[in-house]
Amino acid sequence: MSRYMPDGWALPAIDNKNRDFFTSGKIVVQACKDCDTVQHPPEDICHVCQGSALESRFCSGEGTVYSHIVVEHPIPGSLKDRVPYAVILVSLTDHPQIRILGNPVNIEARDVAVGQKVRAVFESLEDKEAGLELKIPQWEVIQT
Ligand SMILES: [Zn+2]
Repeated sequence: MSRYMPDGWALPAIDNKNRDFFTSGKIVVQACKDCDTVQHPPEDICHVCQGSALESRFCSGEGTVYSHIVVEHPIPGSLKDRVPYAVILVSLTDHPQIRILGNPVNIEARDVAVGQKVRAVFESLEDKEAGLELKIPQWEVIQT
């Protein structure tokens, strides 16, 4: 799928903690092997037990719009042709306490509403500098 944000928009800086999230083409949370806590974004230690034995755990990729905003005034000039656009906070179905930011790709920004069901879709991008194929998660509203 094409990119929601304009060409040239910043790419995520990939490290060992977020590599699966941005390259696997699946929604991934970080899980603690010691206490089974899941967390996002990925960190160096578990928020609950401070353990460092962490692993990626793949999720269904479905969720619910927990909150949203519509951006009408582009702060960076490169977004002047992109507004209005929406930013949504998605509560994952598998782990409702985990919320992930993104953009809704199949709905007008002003039509987004709290409670809408969404599923992850992925933008394929090449990070030439890092030599990586990225899969950036975005969200498709499930029409009912
Ligand atoms: Zn833990």
